[in-house]
Amino acid sequence: MSLVLPTPGGNTDDGTLRAISDFHPFLSAFRRDLHAHPELGFEERRTAARVAEALQGFGFDEVHTGVGRTGVVGVLRGRWVGSSKSVGLRADMDALPVQEEGTCAHRSVHAGRMHGCGHDGHVTMLLGAARRLAHTRDFGGTVHFIFQPGEEGHAGARVMIEDGLFERFPCDAVYALHNWPSLPAGTVAVNPGAMMAARDDFWLRIEGVGGHGAMPHRTADPVVAACAVVAALQTVVSRNLDPALSAVLTVHSLQAGGAIAQGVPTQSVTVPPQADIAGIAKWFDASAGEVLRRRVAEIAKDCASALGTRADVRYLPFLPPTVNAPPCAELVRRAATGLLGAARVFTGVLPSMASEDFSFMLNERPGAYFWLGVGEDVPGLHHPHYDFNDAVLPIGAALLATIAREALAA
Ligand SMILES: [Zn+2]
Ligand SMILES: [Zn+2]
Repeated sequence: MSLVLPTPGGNTDDGTLRAISDFHPFLSAFRRDLHAHPELGFEERRTAARVAEALQGFGFDEVHTGVGRTGVVGVLRGRWVGSSKSVGLRADMDALPVQEEGTCAHRSVHAGRMHGCGHDGHVTMLLGAARRLAHTRDFGGTVHFIFQPGEEGHAGARVMIEDGLFERFPCDAVYALHNWPSLPAGTVAVNPGAMMAARDDFWLRIEGVGGHGAMPHRTADPVVAACAVVAALQTVVSRNLDPALSAVLTVHSLQAGGAIAQGVPTQSVTVPPQADIAGIAKWFDASAGEVLRRRVAEIAKDCASALGTRADVRYLPFLPPTVNAPPCAELVRRAATGLLGAARVFTGVLPSMASEDFSFMLNERPGAYFWLGVGEDVPGLHHPHYDFNDAVLPIGAALLATIAREALAA
């Protein structure tokens, strides 16, 4: 894979990118080793050990393991004394419970586990920034390198915060990136606002009265009620929400009755006593979140009641929206433009309806989250053939190093 570097001219990089490119083979080898040994959320023991060992090898001032269970935080102080400023850079470490279908030499050695979201690349790019900044220490203040466990559905960022992350390692601001298929390799997208949606989870249990399927008038059928609820829920976004606000409501599971044997007459045709529904709601604006939460409960209860059943509603706000602080997004834009040239930096892009637990850190500290393009012709995130594009490793590492230096200089 060829190295993707910005064309000379038009950028003001101070040599960071070229210096990091000199140890590109180290980064690629590290990333491929992580790819071959994926670990799920809060099981990242090998990954954490490799990270801690690398940070110690770079001569870090402090390396703390076990932060938020399997997280690692490296502390690096600059050589320009007198500054009490601090900045946090975060990379997520966990893999997915997905069977890898790729055939590359560094494919996962663990059945049913793979780095399908490119977090192996995130860890490696943050280590690249760590190695470079540990070598130069050309800043005043402290950089905290945050290697976070359990991003994929475990809210590991919240677990680190609850474990005292920002009390133990103060950060004036925090920054993170996600590799992004569909953006050209080596480009950056950052918004002065929303990047990723919030995610709420809900569960509805429709309680009815079971009975003989040929005598439905003696039952209160939860299957019919559940179907009506699912159909009515489609009106929340289309009829209750201001059309100028973006939101998604998806029912992803509907379960009732016994297992189905295709083409085999059922011995006992029974209306089940209950039906279970599970879904998610995605939104950016808190007012939209409020409408979704209120209307899911109202529709489930009223619709179920109209059909002689009863709905129990559980609603869990799981992840907040990922919203950048405009000055921090501007810092990222400036750093990326200096490094890559203005033509490789996009702002004002459409945010994603996917979610990201870095939002918990952005709720605690100002900061910014941006996307690093890995190419338009690569499989999407979470695809069983996904393999992080090693060509962008030096670019991501140089971006993180530059952002840390500029945040401390601001
Ligand atoms: Zn993911
Ligand atoms: Zn991810």
